[in-house]
Amino acid sequence: MAEKMDKLKSLLAEVSDLNAVGAVLGWDQQTYMPKGGAEARGNHLATVGKITHQKFTSDEIGILLTDLEKEHMGAEPDSDDARLLKLTRLEYDRATRVPSEFVAEFAIVTSKAFEAWVEARSKSDFSIFQPHLEKVVELNQRYISFFPPADHPYDVLLDQFERGLKTAEVQEIFDALRPQQVELLKAIAGKPQINDTFLHIDYDQQKLWDFSEVIATKFGFDWERGRQDKSAHPFTTNFSINDVRITTRFESENPIVLLFSTMHETGHGLYELGINQAYERTPLAGGTSLAVHESQSRLWENLVGRSMPFWEHFYPELQKLFPVQVGNLDLGSFYKGINKVQSSLIRVNADEATYNLHIMLRLELEIGMIEGTIKVKDLPEIWNIKMDEYLGVVPPDDAEGVLQDIHWSGGTLGYFSTYALGNLISAQLWEKINADIPDLSEKFRKGEFGALLDWLREKVHIHGSKYEPQELVQRVTGSKIDSGPYIRYLNQKYSEIYGL
Ligand code: MG
Repeated sequence: MAEKMDKLKSLLAEVSDLNAVGAVLGWDQQTYMPKGGAEARGNHLATVGKITHQKFTSDEIGILLTDLEKEHMGAEPDSDDARLLKLTRLEYDRATRVPSEFVAEFAIVTSKAFEAWVEARSKSDFSIFQPHLEKVVELNQRYISFFPPADHPYDVLLDQFERGLKTAEVQEIFDALRPQQVELLKAIAGKPQINDTFLHIDYDQQKLWDFSEVIATKFGFDWERGRQDKSAHPFTTNFSINDVRITTRFESENPIVLLFSTMHETGHGLYELGINQAYERTPLAGGTSLAVHESQSRLWENLVGRSMPFWEHFYPELQKLFPVQVGNLDLGSFYKGINKVQSSLIRVNADEATYNLHIMLRLELEIGMIEGTIKVKDLPEIWNIKMDEYLGVVPPDDAEGVLQDIHWSGGTLGYFSTYALGNLISAQLWEKINADIPDLSEKFRKGEFGALLDWLREKVHIHGSKYEPQELVQRVTGSKIDSGPYIRYLNQKYSEIYGL
């Protein structure tokens, strides 16, 4: 048995190496590659992807898996080996159920859909994208048909990003959350708005960059095992538990966003850096789901980085760096400015109090499209109605409405809810952390973040992908994903800021 297990692990290690090679190529593509390399890089990625797929779906791995599953029956179900087999089985079935002709067709349809989306968005004309999105929906429905019937067809799509999570569970969570967020937003809208003009002026990019690395260092980011670079859209990737890359960007209309972007990606990075070294080159390496990953990034960005104790420590330093911009601004006004709430049209610019509403809207539309109850041609109209209902704002055109996100053009449905679930999980963890470390705020005021990182490492990071997301959240917080803590957090924070 040990011999077969070793054999399986050595094959999976090679698959992991190939995935890492693809990740290096992808990282370079988004950071340093000159424009001219685009076509060649597409070929590199396609070839490496094909070899990785062939290697992973080989009969050899299939037979080893089946043999080992038989031998492992009745063994300790929570052991690393049992969990490795379970996860490998899931990924193996997923990779072998989908015919290669479908994968090829999907690549062609989505590359055309992406081009159409770029044009449609620039012209703000949904009709250009509509036939492509119809094909994308049809392909997703076909993808679902390769899998055994689920409680809801959308479960199959969701499962790609959140193992084991059901559509009905997400709907229940969001149904409880939506009215409370809408109510909070209405209460805030009735109060005088915060002045945040100090954010929308010129800041020196290099100074912000250096300061972002000071913060990441204080958070515990290990520069011997990671680095930060620039990219158009910030992201985190890794080639090993010991080589984690984060990126950030400079936005001229809101320069300080660079700091929050770095804190966000540092949160993702710390998760990857904290995974059990024994999982290196196995499927257990890597965060367990997108929502749990996002809980880590949001926790460092928002619950830490947008908190008063954090800025009680860092604000004097920021004032020293930018005397013209914030030298005469008191800490209270700065804190309010970075926490300003305003209904806006664009999801990626949304604040903590409005963000989830953007997600709920998208989830409803995706479920409707997959069920066939919402026609693609009706999306712009339904989009605008729901924006008004949830956020009280209506896009002037489709570019700032239904066409704003890249996801559907890439064929991806089932992804959006993970962002909001990440917010909810971050607040659940936060309540538990504050119960376990009562003087957390005091530590932040002194610039100490080690106790928080140690807690996250021990409870969350170390486990990598061993546990399913709901299982992990339950183990750590005592309950499954729940909107209660997030709503409590929002209500407390904004009652104070807006005097509700
Ligand atoms: Mg993120």
